[in-house]
Amino acid sequence: MTFESLGLSPELLRAITDEGYTTPTPVQVQAIPLVLAGQDVQAAAQTGTGKTAGFTLPILHRLQPMASSSPSPARHPIRCLVLTPTRELAAQVQESVKTYGRYLALRSTVIYGGVAMPPQVKALQAGVEIVVATPGRLLDHVQQKTINLSQVEILVLDEADRMLDMGFIPDIRRIIALLPARRQNLLFSATFSEDIRKLSKGILNDPATVEVARSNTTAEGITQLIYPVEAERKRALLTHLIRTLPIPQAIVFTRTKHGANRLCAQLEKERIPAAAIHSDKTQSHRTRSLEQFKAGEVSILVATDIAARGLDIDQLPFVVNFELPHVPEDYVHRIGRTGRAGSQGCAISLVSPEESRERQAIETLIKQAIREEVPVNFEVIEQPVQRAVERRPPRETDGRSRADRRHVMHQPEAATMPEKVIGEPKVPRPVPESPRSVYSHHHFSRPPLGPPGIKKHREIPALLGGLLKKSP
Ligand code: AMP
Repeated sequence: MTFESLGLSPELLRAITDEGYTTPTPVQVQAIPLVLAGQDVQAAAQTGTGKTAGFTLPILHRLQPMASSSPSPARHPIRCLVLTPTRELAAQVQESVKTYGRYLALRSTVIYGGVAMPPQVKALQAGVEIVVATPGRLLDHVQQKTINLSQVEILVLDEADRMLDMGFIPDIRRIIALLPARRQNLLFSATFSEDIRKLSKGILNDPATVEVARSNTTAEGITQLIYPVEAERKRALLTHLIRTLPIPQAIVFTRTKHGANRLCAQLEKERIPAAAIHSDKTQSHRTRSLEQFKAGEVSILVATDIAARGLDIDQLPFVVNFELPHVPEDYVHRIGRTGRAGSQGCAISLVSPEESRERQAIETLIKQAIREEVPVNFEVIEQPVQRAVERRPPRETDGRSRADRRHVMHQPEAATMPEKVIGEPKVPRPVPESPRSVYSHHHFSRPPLGPPGIKKHREIPALLGGLLKKSP
C-alpha cells in the first residue's frame, strides 16, 4: 500500500515525501479512505500509530477545493474543528496540519488556555479553515464571541477517552450544540470503553470503525519491572536507580501535581536535572521543559498522566512509575511512552505495599505478572506484596534466601543476567559500555549524574544495557 494509492492530492503527497514517509501506517490505510469518502469514523488508535496523519491528511484533501488565497476573512471560515484534551496535543496536531498542508492555501490555528487571548483572537479574525483547540479556551472564545463555528463541516475528537476522563464531555456537548447538524465526525480514542461507545453513539452518525491495535495490550519491546519499596523510600530508590542502572533520561509519573513538584525539587537537590510538567505549569514553562528534555539538558521529566498525554517523544528508553496509577489503563498509556515504533524500552514501577490493589488491577488487565527486581546496593525492607495473576514458580529453587542472592549480586564478578523478563529473549546480554541517550549526544560524553565521587555500580546486571543500544 502506498500513499498514492490512497488517492491523496499531489500537494499532500509532496508534503508526505518531504517528511520521509514511504508507507502508510495501518491506521492510515484504514482511516484515510473512509474520511475521504466523507464517512463518520470511530477509531481505536493510540498515540504513536500515526493517527494524526490518519485524520489530518484526508481532512486537508477534502478542504483543498475550498482553499483560497484571498486575504478576506470571509473567504476563510472555520471548516474543521479538532478538539484535544491537552495543550501539548493541540499544539502537536496543529503542527501536523501545518506540516502536511504546507503546499495548500489553507490556514490553521491553535487555541488553548494558559496563554494570552489577543493573539488567538487576531488569528481567528483573520480567518482560518482549521482550528485545533482544547475545550475550555474554545468556550472562552465562544463566550466572548470571538469565534464563529457555524460553518464547521468536520469535527474531530482526538483522544476522546482522555477528554472523558478529564470531565470535558459537558464542554464538548456545549461546543457541538454550536456546530451545524450536518457535518462529518471523527472520534479517535486509545481505548474503547463502554462510556466512549456511548459518547460516540450520541455524536457520530452511522460510523465506520477502525481498530489497529487491541486496547490494553502492552508493546512487546517493553521490559516491565517492579521494584517493591516502602513508600517513604521511593525518592531515595529513584535517585539510586537513576545513578546506578543508570537511567540517562526518563519520564517519571506521579499521581498528583503536588507530588510531581516535590519529586522534581528533590531530584534537583540531588543534582539530577529535572523538570515537572503538569496542568498548573504555564504553557511556556511546559513547552520549555519539553524542549530542554528533548535537547538532553533535562534528564528527568516528572509528569502527571494528564500532562504527559499526547507528548510526542519518540523512543524514550525509560518510563518510571513513581506511583502506580489508580486507573489500570493509565499504566498501559504510561509505559507506551517507551518502546515505541519497534524500539526497545524499559518501564520501571516503584511499588509500595499500599499499592498492591493497583498492581493487581494492572496485572489482571495486561494478563501478565510483572517481574520483580531487587535494587542492587539499596536496602529494601521486604514486605509481602499480594499478587494478582498466576505467579511464576518461586525463584529460591536453589535453596538460597533472597538476601543471599542479593549478596551475590553485590559481587561484581558474580553479576548475572536476571531471569526471564517479559518480552525479552533469555539470551544474556553484555554489560553496556556507557549509558546512552536517544535524544542527544550530550549523554555520551556526560559524566554520571550526581555529586562527584559517587561511582556508578558497574556490577549492575546488564538488564538494561541492551535496551539502550541504538538500532542500526
Ligand atoms: P501519532 O500517532 O499521530 O502521534 O504519530 C506518531 C509519529 O509517527 C509522528 O512523529 C509522525 O510524524 C510519525 N508518522 C506518521 N505517519 C507516518 C508514516 N506513514 N511513516 C512514518 N512515520 C509516520
